[in-house]
Amino acid sequence: LISRLERLRAIGASVHGGVTRPAFSPADVRARHLATDFMRQAGLRPRVDAAANLIGSAPGHQSGLGTLLLGSHLDTVPNGGAFDGVYGVLAAIEVFQSLRDHRVTLDHPAAAIAFSNEEGTPGTLPMFGSRAVAGMLERGESDRRDAAGHVLGNLLADAGGDPTRLDMARWPVGSIAAFLELHIEQGPVLDRAQTPIGVVEAISGRQTVAVTVAGTASHGGTTPMANRRDALVAAAQIVLGVRDLGGPSGVTRVATVGECVVLPGAWNVVPGEVRLIVDLRDIRSEAIERGIDRLRALADRVGADSGTTVTVTPAQRVEPVWCDPRLRSLVANVADELDLAHQPLPSGAGHDAQWVSCVAPSAMIFVPSTRGISHTPEEHSSPADLIAGADVLLNSVLAMDRALRPHATDRTASHATG
Ligand SMILES: [Zn+2]
Repeated sequence: LISRLERLRAIGASVHGGVTRPAFSPADVRARHLATDFMRQAGLRPRVDAAANLIGSAPGHQSGLGTLLLGSHLDTVPNGGAFDGVYGVLAAIEVFQSLRDHRVTLDHPAAAIAFSNEEGTPGTLPMFGSRAVAGMLERGESDRRDAAGHVLGNLLADAGGDPTRLDMARWPVGSIAAFLELHIEQGPVLDRAQTPIGVVEAISGRQTVAVTVAGTASHGGTTPMANRRDALVAAAQIVLGVRDLGGPSGVTRVATVGECVVLPGAWNVVPGEVRLIVDLRDIRSEAIERGIDRLRALADRVGADSGTTVTVTPAQRVEPVWCDPRLRSLVANVADELDLAHQPLPSGAGHDAQWVSCVAPSAMIFVPSTRGISHTPEEHSSPADLIAGADVLLNSVLAMDRALRPHATDRTASHATG
């Protein structure tokens, strides 16, 4: 696993030590080819589905069972890290390598998957492959062009997909018995707590909100301070107010202003308009709703105090997704058996699992990210933690193979009714 991670790290390696492997770039294509080789070495039969997801399958002993699906993504953000996504794909392949090395065949059919375009190469929407698996693509999505002007459908076709038959990539409900995604945490919780395994409770939902502050642009030299309607000074109070919306004393887990456009944007002009984008995240929908309410109240207050007009427009919303409770306790039990400390935690970032959960019971396992750094060349996880996570994944697959057989379910059902 570790040597394969090193080989993938070299594909798209930048001079700064990072990895640049945007979806469908030549580097991404090379990474997909190498992962295909690894799948074959692990005894899997690789194929590319209509959405350009790379899937390596292994048949099961018993017929009529749903597939145990494991995986993540191979693409990266520009100058990103060497572990985000690729770790989950290679660990999934490693599970099958271990099963093959030990001549173990599962009852369930099983597969390792590398979802296409998780990061959303510029100009396209993120998590294309997993949304295709869930049947959640938007109409006409493959007609979109990326930042370089390439039509997404052509990129999909070049990667082995078929943009005219994207519905073929969908897995009907029941066809996936369970999905597990192993991933680096990308935050500091596990590293600070020195806990090797995170059992993800839920994948945070998020709400972006556009806030526009309209004041009056005027001469920065001649307009007296008392006569100003300075949109940026008002926006600064919004930014501080948003900070207070997040955290234990606020209403959402985190709250961020990450974009700010100042107009007209000249050093000698009192700003007439400021456009902010607010990002609210929580694993509870109600918390996000409360965050929007508080933001509206804040906007009214700041507008009244500053003589500006502040408008609040909720934009994109992604609902929080709770991981399957049965899979969460199964993963926690496996970690206990392996004598690995574990703790529940929310996922701050979005992941493919949130879409697969639309069609199958899904869960995520996290390993620590050193100092919580991710999406940069400094992204790092220790080999010991990476191996521990893969061990939990392997043993979770074995446990799922036992627990998710129909007669295992029947026993639970008759117990419940009896
Ligand atoms: Zn990722």
